[in-house]
Amino acid sequence: MEKLLVLTHVDESGEALTRASLEAVAAGVEFSAALGATLAIGMIGAQAAAQLGGINARVLTVAGPEFSSARYASDAAACEALVRAAEATLVFAPASSRFARVMPGVAHRLGGFVETHITALAKGEGLEATRWYYRQRVEAVVKRETRPWFLLLEPGTRAAFVADGAAPQVETVAVTLPALRTKVSGVRAPKQDEQTIRPDAKILFVAGAGWTKKQADGQVHPTEAEQLILGFLKAADASLGSSKSLVDQSGENQPVLKFMTHMNQIGQTGATPRHPKGLSTCCHGEEPHVVGWRFINERRAISLDPNCGWARGKADVLYVADAFQVVAKVNALLMEKK
Ligand SMILES: Cc1cc2nc3c(=O)[nH]c(=O)nc-3n(C[C@H](O)[C@H](O)[C@H](O)COP(=O)(O)OP(=O)(O)OC[C@H]3O[C@@H](n4cnc5c(N)ncnc54)[C@H](O)[C@@H]3O)c2cc1C
Repeated sequence: MEKLLVLTHVDESGEALTRASLEAVAAGVEFSAALGATLAIGMIGAQAAAQLGGINARVLTVAGPEFSSARYASDAAACEALVRAAEATLVFAPASSRFARVMPGVAHRLGGFVETHITALAKGEGLEATRWYYRQRVEAVVKRETRPWFLLLEPGTRAAFVADGAAPQVETVAVTLPALRTKVSGVRAPKQDEQTIRPDAKILFVAGAGWTKKQADGQVHPTEAEQLILGFLKAADASLGSSKSLVDQSGENQPVLKFMTHMNQIGQTGATPRHPKGLSTCCHGEEPHVVGWRFINERRAISLDPNCGWARGKADVLYVADAFQVVAKVNALLMEKK
C-alpha cells in the first residue's frame, strides 16, 4: 500500500501555511483516497494545525527556531526526517522556491526520484503526473516505479484545503541537524506594493510597447504611461506583465518604464502565468506573446489597431481604443470604488 506524505511550510508571517502548501494538502486528500493510500502531513516552520482542521491524516512537525526560515541544511534535514518518520512512498510538496531548492537533494538522500513543475495529477494504473516541457509546447504524463517518488506541485493548479473541523493532534519528529554554516539574519524584500509580479492576483495587466510609442500628438508620454500603469496595478491589485518589445527597449536607448524588467515578460521566451483574468494594453497580440496567455481564462485587450492579433480570436473582448484614455477612466472608477 502506498503511503502518501504532503510536505508543507510557512509563509513570510512565520505563522500560517502558504496557500501553495494548502493546495498540496488538498491534492494529498484527493489522491490518498483515490489510490487507497494512507495520508500524512508534514509541517515545517509552523504549528498551524488549525489550518488542517478536520483532516483525516497523521500530522507531523519539526520543532525549533532553526526551521522558521528557509535554509538548505535545516530544510533538507527536516524534509528527510519527516519522510523517514512517515515511511512515505509518495511525497507531494508545493513547488515554492523554498522546497524546489531542497527536494532534489532530499530525494537523492532517500534513493528516490523527484518530478518538478507538476500541473495535474490523475489516477490511471497508479499515480500519473502531468508536466510541460520545452516552454509549454509539449505536455507529458509521467509514471514511475521508483519509491519514494517526490512531486513538486505548481502553485495555482488546484483549490486550497479548507479546514472544517477540530485541529488534529500533532506529533513532533526529531531532526538531527548538521553544523549550520548559514545564519539567517533577516529578509530584505521590496514592499508588497512595489512588487509588480503577484502570482496570486486575480488579474494580469499586460503593457505593450505602444505605451512608449509616439501618440496622436506626435509625442511620447512615458511619465503618464508609468502613472497610469502603476495606478491600475494599485487600484486593482493586479500583477504586471509585459511584451518582449517593451522590456527590450532599455537596451535600445528608447523611453522605458523604470519598473519593468525581463522578469515581467510574458510569452514564448517569457513567463506563462496563471490568473483568472488578463487585460492587454498597447500590445499587438502576436503569437509569440499570446502563447504565454494560455493559462489566462478570460482575456481582454485594448489596442488602437482593429487588425491586431487580439482581434483574430485571441481575446474574448477587444476594445479598439486609446489605452491612455481608457486606463485613466478605469483607474478613476476603481479609485471611487475603493
Ligand atoms: C523567437 C521569438 C520569440 C519571441 N518571444 C516573445 C515573448 O516571449 N513575448 C513577447 O511579448 N514577444 C515575443 N516575441 C516578439 C513578438 O513577436 C512581438 O514582436 C512583440 O510581442 C511585440 O510587442 P508589442 O505588441 O508590445 O509591440 P508592437 O508590435 O510595437 O505593438 C504595439 C501596439 O500598441 C498599439 N498602441 C500604440 N499606442 C496605443 C494606444 N494609445 N492605445 C492602444 N494601443 C496602442 C499599436 O497599435 C500596436 O498594436 C518573440 C519573437 C520571436 C521571433
